[in-house]
Amino acid sequence: MDNHDFPYHFDHNACKSCGGHCCRGRAGYVWTSTAELEKMAAAMKMATPLFFKQYARRVQGRLSLRERVINGEYLCCFFDLSARRCAIYEFRPEQCRTFPFWDIFKEEPRELFDECPGVSLRIDNIGSTG
Ligand code: SF4
Repeated sequence: MDNHDFPYHFDHNACKSCGGHCCRGRAGYVWTSTAELEKMAAAMKMATPLFFKQYARRVQGRLSLRERVINGEYLCCFFDLSARRCAIYEFRPEQCRTFPFWDIFKEEPRELFDECPGVSLRIDNIGSTG
């Protein structure tokens, strides 16, 4: 998959074997919205208030999914450790759907190359990165 605003290519097939590098590791935020949380709650056949309480948190006026900490590692509350994949993949937030094409990686993708095995420099971009 390509987004020509970005200097890299993304092969989503790598997700099948990577074990969820983008869903686990350091503490962070999975930003979401009320509308997305309502869809997730409906998909899981849960009452929305209970779903919010169990899986969402407010951070500086925004909504994020909660994390779990296991052996010092932070994991999104929806990362299924045994299957090593997202348990709500079809209903995952926009932030997850748009990964790895995030603005913060547009100019500085080095961290991404270290963490995501699906990312590779676009051939037509080689030689133009300075
Ligand atoms: S919602 Fe799914 S894809 Fe997004 S961080 Fe959580 S486990 Fe990963």
